[in-house]
Amino acid sequence: MITLGIDFGGTSLRAALVDTISGTILHSARQPTPALDGPLAVTQAIASLARDVLAEGKDIQVGGIGCPAYVDLNSGRLLNVPNVPGDWPAFAFRDELTRLVGHPIHPINDVRAITLGEWKFGAGRGATTLACYAIGTGIGGGVVIDGKLHLGISGSAGELGHQVVDPTGQFCNCGTQGCLETVAAGPAIAAAAAQAVIRRKPTLIASLIGGDLNKVTPAVVIQAAHQGDAIAREIFEQAGQYLGFALVNTMVTISPQRILIGGGIGTAAGDLLMDPVRRTIRERSHMVPMDRIQVTTTQLGDNAGVIGAALWAETQIN
Ligand SMILES: [Zn+2]
Repeated sequence: MITLGIDFGGTSLRAALVDTISGTILHSARQPTPALDGPLAVTQAIASLARDVLAEGKDIQVGGIGCPAYVDLNSGRLLNVPNVPGDWPAFAFRDELTRLVGHPIHPINDVRAITLGEWKFGAGRGATTLACYAIGTGIGGGVVIDGKLHLGISGSAGELGHQVVDPTGQFCNCGTQGCLETVAAGPAIAAAAAQAVIRRKPTLIASLIGGDLNKVTPAVVIQAAHQGDAIAREIFEQAGQYLGFALVNTMVTISPQRILIGGGIGTAAGDLLMDPVRRTIRERSHMVPMDRIQVTTTQLGDNAGVIGAALWAETQIN
């Protein structure tokens, strides 16, 4: 079956025709997200891109869209969209997008879509229970339990980045304190690196940014760590340890066969993050069969989102 899959990102939009039997992408197009122009303009841009892509196929009746948001699956509204300004809760996103495209378009949280894509065609193939963490500007997640994407109340299950791992820690975008996202996502890694430079610790990061703190990014910290910089490696040790605590929580809750780590930073950091994660779960987890749980990186890159969105749409056909 060929289905439309859309990835709504904070900076770019992508729409694709997906063969959901093989997991291959037949046609795909991208454009920037007019993120500052408000919900209606963003939705019109998505619809226009979707119609362009649909014109390349035949008889496609339905689509799915992964959104950087807390998506209320009952109302089809986006209740919390941290990186795209506007009064989204007041905007009937699913209904308006469906009207503009001319076919039903089913929204789902972006990392829930990635989880579906990786489960069916990527690093999660063959598992019946798994968890997926996507580490980027924030940390998103998704869980599959006993062969089914687990959604919970209105699709709110799987917010793995908002497990509290440091009760007295920094405040999080979600309104609470000490979430995994506050200690292991991109901004936390960049902030720790900036602190090291400000405190004049001996680190290559200072020379890599030419003394300009605005240039501190997770990519720079990864570069320094690969060059053997002890401070940069310690930053990933710390983030990986917190991530490991979160994985242990997930393991004792759902006993997954596999845990996938992806997202821009999860993928780029690789073993810098995975080594401390694996060490922490070995040390801290004694109530699940560790030898039967694999922790691995995702495989599909940014194709996972559009593939998963298409798979989601097909589950919504009555
Ligand atoms: Zn949070």
